[in-house]
Amino acid sequence: MRIVQAAMSALGAVDRSGAGGATRPEAGERRAAGRPLVIVVGNPNVGKTTLFNRLAGARGRVGNYPGITVERRPGTLRLGGAGEDVELLDLPGCYSLSARSAEEQIAINAVLGLAGNPAPTLALVVVDAGQLIRNLYLVLQLVELEVPLVIALNMIDEVEDEPPSAAAIARIFGVPVVPTSARQGVGLDALAACLREQVSRPPRGRVAIDYPPALERDLARVAAALPPALRASPGRDRGLALWALMSVDEHDELRDVDPDLRAACLAVRRDAGARDLDDEVIATRYAFLDRHASVLHARVDQHLRKRAASERIDRVLLHPVWGFAVFVLVMLVLFQALFSWANPAITQVERATGWLQEQMAAHLPEGLLSDLLREGVVGGVGNVVVFLPQILLLFFFISLLEDSGYMARIAFLMDRIMKALGLHGRAFVPMLSGFACAVPAILATRTMERQRDRLLTMMVIPLMTCSARLPVYTLIIAALFPPAVGWVPVQGLLMVAMYLFSIVVTLAAAAVLGRTVIRGEHAPPILELPPYRLPDPRSTLRMMLERAGVFLREAGTMILVCTVVLWALLSFPRPSMPPAGEPTEAARQHALAESYGGRLGRAIEPALAPLGFDWKIGVGIIGAFAAREVFVSTLGLVYGVGEQDDEAIPLRQRIHEERRPDGRPVYTPLVGLSLMVFFALACQCMSTLAVTRRETHGWRWPAFMFVYMAALAWAASFLVYQGGRLLGL
Ligand code: GDP
Ligand code: MG
Repeated sequence: MRIVQAAMSALGAVDRSGAGGATRPEAGERRAAGRPLVIVVGNPNVGKTTLFNRLAGARGRVGNYPGITVERRPGTLRLGGAGEDVELLDLPGCYSLSARSAEEQIAINAVLGLAGNPAPTLALVVVDAGQLIRNLYLVLQLVELEVPLVIALNMIDEVEDEPPSAAAIARIFGVPVVPTSARQGVGLDALAACLREQVSRPPRGRVAIDYPPALERDLARVAAALPPALRASPGRDRGLALWALMSVDEHDELRDVDPDLRAACLAVRRDAGARDLDDEVIATRYAFLDRHASVLHARVDQHLRKRAASERIDRVLLHPVWGFAVFVLVMLVLFQALFSWANPAITQVERATGWLQEQMAAHLPEGLLSDLLREGVVGGVGNVVVFLPQILLLFFFISLLEDSGYMARIAFLMDRIMKALGLHGRAFVPMLSGFACAVPAILATRTMERQRDRLLTMMVIPLMTCSARLPVYTLIIAALFPPAVGWVPVQGLLMVAMYLFSIVVTLAAAAVLGRTVIRGEHAPPILELPPYRLPDPRSTLRMMLERAGVFLREAGTMILVCTVVLWALLSFPRPSMPPAGEPTEAARQHALAESYGGRLGRAIEPALAPLGFDWKIGVGIIGAFAAREVFVSTLGLVYGVGEQDDEAIPLRQRIHEERRPDGRPVYTPLVGLSLMVFFALACQCMSTLAVTRRETHGWRWPAFMFVYMAALAWAASFLVYQGGRLLGL
């Protein structure tokens, strides 16, 4: 939990209520200047987001939790009548409030209104009617913390033969319970009515749980160490002490836990000796729930039936042979989609951009402004929009995989292999997508819950051979290597080698980074797989649009700005004497050489020389930053090959014939190899850096990505080139 100062403001109201004993402040008092806030809490996969969307309609937005790569979705629920609207906040799923990682801390912070979160008026706890006992564990924790709450008994459609009794649950916890089916839109009016009623007098549940006497003494010790700002009523203090005792240990990643509180928790744990505190708490809670099992578990058979169906499917899909066959097939379809189904749309975007630029060139007066609009702005927008086809397609598939429950099986199948590399099983799909393009792949890392897993995956994805590297490899291989020597197909082998090289490097980088810079505990093994469900087309569409929207809004601006900056680098200073008539190739070549980019290319030549590159390649590398394939056109520009005959044949020839001042060829096969290795490893892509910044909320990780990949690229190219020369190549 937060240090005292930070907690003070958020907890001011609770503090005041504490002075008056156990009474809760009124909703209006807690959110003086705002609407009542209802947070949507619950286990993963219980339909929180579906319910949220139903309640908030299209009014939901996506934002970020401060400093964490998990997103918050606020929305508004119109309650009508007295004009009282309610703010809704969709939280990431959690099985329990005990938190060991920064992400899990979101739930407790949001529920208690800590760490800058506004204190909620009410929690809407969504539970799966088919898995009551496990779901009610969370409810129990919330009631122990005296959080006012309303329960939505969701997925009631799946247990309709004999639904569990909402009244019985309401009696056990002392809070309102409304049966709903978010999928079918059942019970939503009743839920809205219940929320309308309860926000004005937040209901506080009651449960009487007796923990073993020794544990009660421990709890009193921890409660005594609570900072004054966290104190409220005795009941809530005990709830907080329970939370702290279950969450704080030597390895937790919690931020800003009050030092005295932390010390007390560790002391109690130490003094507990052989007693297992976690086990005592959990067992007592489940014993309580089990006492009511006869009421709650009325549905066991139906629930079991659903599980049995899922297990039958799993016998095929998790089968060592058939399961892998299906898995490979599914991945092939995904891969094919990203590679070729997205292509027509990408071509259309590129064509539209080109057409627009042509029109502007034809109709706007020549000059700086039209140049800026054409190359910088339109080109930049094109650079952003061109990612949309792959992003939409990838999230279409991810949504189907997630909602159907198959993503959890992929993680399960891949867990052993991925874990050996320090990666999460769920990293597989994002990494595979990295073969197509790192941008959607990095966006896809959010199928992982833990920040550490997500970061590690993001940091290695740009090492995969994305499709933008292909034109570069193709140009170099075609220009510098013979198609075949005897029976050996040299060009084909080289291409395959570049792919294998990138896979090996990616996995090695994950293994190294995961043990050094991004160390962290392994994710717990996957014990429970969600039941199979038919995906809901509405939620698929929503996910696609939402991800695309976030990309356009936040990464898009950055890409646009970078395009304009790069354009400026390569077009300034302008040649003083504008050549009369059509600019000749020679004039353009000269202008580029004299531009800041050209000068930069020459300035970095000493650093590139040991890799076998001259300054023209340097300019190409700088230009490639906009997008790797731009390397080809920038080189074309450097060598004065018109963009019209971009088929690379003349460029290929120029590259082949390019000579150094002393008459030696600039490009030898060895230089080509060194250049390909450089491109394979360097993070030559501003769009990748822009999404990484977006997903990690800062410059730190994209900067790290850029630097470590550049260092790797330089070192590897150095080894290739100098090693090759030593061998006399
Ligand atoms: P969250 O993880 O809690 O946000 O859950 P989601 O809203 O993403 O829903 C998980 C899955 O359950 C999706 O496939 C939904 O379509 C499905 N789902 C949500 N609510 C219901 C419901 O009331 N009945 C049924 N049968 N399925 C539902
Ligand atoms: Mg959700």
